[in-house]
Amino acid sequence: MKPSVTIIATGGTIAGTAPSSTQAGYTSGKLDINNLIQTVPNLERLARIDGEQFSNVGSQDMSFEIMINLARRINKLLIEEKIDGVVVTHGTDTMEETAFFLNLTIKSPKPVVMTGAMRPFTALSADGPLNLYNAVAVAADPRSCGQGVMVVMNDRIHDAHSLSKTNTTSVETFLSPVNGLLGTVIYGALQYYRGPFQNHTTSSEFSLKGVDSLPRVDIIYACADMPPDLIDCSVASGAKGIVIAGYGNGNMNETTLKKAAQMAQQGIFIIRSSRVPTGRVVRNVEVDDDINQFIASDELNPAKARILLILALLKKRSFQQVQDLFYSY
Ligand code: GLU
Repeated sequence: MKPSVTIIATGGTIAGTAPSSTQAGYTSGKLDINNLIQTVPNLERLARIDGEQFSNVGSQDMSFEIMINLARRINKLLIEEKIDGVVVTHGTDTMEETAFFLNLTIKSPKPVVMTGAMRPFTALSADGPLNLYNAVAVAADPRSCGQGVMVVMNDRIHDAHSLSKTNTTSVETFLSPVNGLLGTVIYGALQYYRGPFQNHTTSSEFSLKGVDSLPRVDIIYACADMPPDLIDCSVASGAKGIVIAGYGNGNMNETTLKKAAQMAQQGIFIIRSSRVPTGRVVRNVEVDDDINQFIASDELNPAKARILLILALLKKRSFQQVQDLFYSY
């Protein structure tokens, strides 16, 4: 019997339309999932497909409310024996954040595959239909069990921890620059090169049970001569943690460092991440993290470091415990 895959649509460029096939301007999240499914040839050869329209937003409008409900919906679907995998269509702008959030909050080994498009549905050489075809092929394949939440775009299979969006308009926008690809999928034929290295889904300790709101964590982008009072502003607005998208190996200027250390003393979690697109942020290199009680983000970029800290703060934890989470997720 063919596997059963449910496609949950949240919007994005994959469902975007424009009045002409050669114009750059378009509106995200216009097309219904059932229209989308009907236009992808031979999808039914891969799996029995169900479509669910969950939201229809450009992913710049993805909210934690939608993410929490999406995680709950997927968890509920995957408990059903008859469902073998889920595909989530999503805008690419914040796809890495939703993918990472789901990777930490889905409690099933069954495949969850996110996909989207860089070109709207109506564009010349639209990439969405083939991305959707490949995503369904990955979700329907038993080898995809236990791989955590994946993103399939442009023939590549990425794990949620490793990928980031790197180009504003190119179809080759997602890269996994430090860990490399999980695999490739060419017209539905897939090959895995490795498994995920970090904890995810069934090995994740995070749970959304009883959670209806999430603690505020802000990101502050470092720039030359940055003003330290952005940190005051953040804390005064209720942030329980701050991710510094630092220079290079997670650095900040002296005045910001002093302010951040002061806040860490008061129990605000300060994560040193980097504005540099690739590489790890390492403890105690130019900044004394032990004395200042800072946390190094390791490989997580600022957006994903924020997601991990938000989930970590659902429970009381020490600085050391939070640092350990950054090494294992
Ligand atoms: N702003 C759009 C979104 O994230 C564009 C990106 C896309 O889907 O490719 O929904």
